[in-house]
Amino acid sequence: MQTNTTVTQLTLQLPQWAIDKVQELPPVMPDVEQRMETVLFFAGANFKNDTGGPFAAAVFEEASGRLVSIGVNRVVPSNCSTAHAEIMALSLAQAQLQTYDLGGPGMPSHQLVVNWCPCAMCFGAVLWSGIRSLVIAGAGSQLEAITGFDEGPIHPQWRQELEKRGITLLEDVLHEQAVAQFEEFAASGRPVYNARLG
Ligand SMILES: [Zn+2]
Repeated sequence: MQTNTTVTQLTLQLPQWAIDKVQELPPVMPDVEQRMETVLFFAGANFKNDTGGPFAAAVFEEASGRLVSIGVNRVVPSNCSTAHAEIMALSLAQAQLQTYDLGGPGMPSHQLVVNWCPCAMCFGAVLWSGIRSLVIAGAGSQLEAITGFDEGPIHPQWRQELEKRGITLLEDVLHEQAVAQFEEFAASGRPVYNARLG
């Protein structure tokens, strides 16, 4: 009789340098620029350590700035096309808080901070996550133009779709630093891992 060897479980985790770094972070970051600075540090260190693409995200309690989770892109090392930084951060926050809904009853308002506008997939993940606030360093075609990463068919009314669902949006936080980091990534010649080897 033939045995079926299909994989039945999946583990995603941060690289060791990020696990170590998370321990050293201040538990509370009241200032939104400090939150983005932290995200940019992780995004830069991720590609420089060759542990994933130049993307990071973090979940905070919006009002207090208490850090809930950090995510970095893990697509290539995890053989997982969905292991984007936002998916990592949101899923780790949900695991940490033991809820699939970060906006559930009795929860403080949660904020996702990312070093660029979420891609087509992550935009959906943002909507389903229960976060109440999205902070990004930029949006639009600049990222694709610099790095070649495909961001997918982002909804043309994405800002309004966020607003409809009560998710506030803060854009262009540390924009220039984020763009400079993508330029550094592009200049490093590291691989861009779009599907279909595109
Ligand atoms: Zn994404």
